[in-house]
Amino acid sequence: MTYVADKDRYSTMKYRRSGRSGLDLPLISLGLWHNFGGDVPYENARALCRRAFDLGITHFDLANNYGPPPGSAEETFGRILKTDFASHRDELVISTKAGYRMWPGPYGEWGSRKYVLSSLDRSLKRMGIDTVDIFYSHRFDPNTPLEETMGALHDAVRQGKAHYVGISSYGSARTAEAAAILRSLGTPLLIHQPSYSMLNRWVEEDGLLDRLAAEGAGCIAFTPLAQGVLTNKYLNGIPKESRAAAGKSLSPNQLSEDNLARLRGLDEIAKRRGQSLAQMALAWVLRDPRMTSALIGASRPEQIEDCVAALKNLSFEPAELAEIDGHAQD
Ligand code: NDP
Repeated sequence: MTYVADKDRYSTMKYRRSGRSGLDLPLISLGLWHNFGGDVPYENARALCRRAFDLGITHFDLANNYGPPPGSAEETFGRILKTDFASHRDELVISTKAGYRMWPGPYGEWGSRKYVLSSLDRSLKRMGIDTVDIFYSHRFDPNTPLEETMGALHDAVRQGKAHYVGISSYGSARTAEAAAILRSLGTPLLIHQPSYSMLNRWVEEDGLLDRLAAEGAGCIAFTPLAQGVLTNKYLNGIPKESRAAAGKSLSPNQLSEDNLARLRGLDEIAKRRGQSLAQMALAWVLRDPRMTSALIGASRPEQIEDCVAALKNLSFEPAELAEIDGHAQD
């Protein structure tokens, strides 16, 4: 059926500026790591993207290797762009990344100029577009000069193949180095993409948000729901249709009795706030205004609806935050 975007799609979503750039991102963004590969029904992937866009989610996050098989999530998204989003391309912020293994041999992963720029060309081809909005170095490469990796990102912009650049999972010190190199080249660092959730606080321990604020860069938190653990889906066992049941990136071991007790405690707090656990987990990630966006995944459109409704209550009392820490931290 022909897709007609909801005319009210910008009425409820909130947007935040990414650092000191000119780019706003929706508070909730959709990632295509799971549920968009060649191994799942296209119609579901399409329904997820349509629902997201109808709710004001303008940012879709990909990487060269998302699938399985690697590359197939970009192909799926390219198909959706062509069939449903063709007239909306300028309303979208599409990101992709290079850093993990994409093809065999010494040039198929990490941060060399050869790999990074070849990978971007392949990503653009798979998605059927000339330019991505954000191009990321997916991980720091300890064996390649940072100048080379950042130089490749800068050249992607100069060549018109990316509008902005980002880095993912770099620690604070490396982030400062990367930002300085990019600044000297004239391509400011737009954004950093780290993992961050109530259960994963390395960003706080590393002082990453302070560093990014000093650099004028934004931050988009990936796996804010800890891959679904910070939702109500595992509170009464492991449903057949779930990431933990599939057992690939999320192991059932992460759902030990001790962890479940913590989740039940968090769920009680969420209920008092009138939120689902997923909604509270997202509000928590977004409580600091320096956090530009929370980057979720979803297997069903209703999950996206539930997540977006988190925006109805983003504030926390200090006592609530302390209580959350009591359950979520060791
Ligand atoms: P989340 O932590 O948001 O987990 C998503 C999963 O949680 C869904 O697949 C679903 O699980 C479950 N879920 C989502 N919403 C709800 C809800 N409202 N109620 C109940 N369950 C819910 O993030 P992801 O792990 O999917 O990662 C998000 C994105 O982050 C990726 O797509 C990718 O773009 C990015 N990412 C980046 C990385 C990097 O290195 N830069 C690494 C990893 C991710 P189920 O499928 O079981 O239904």
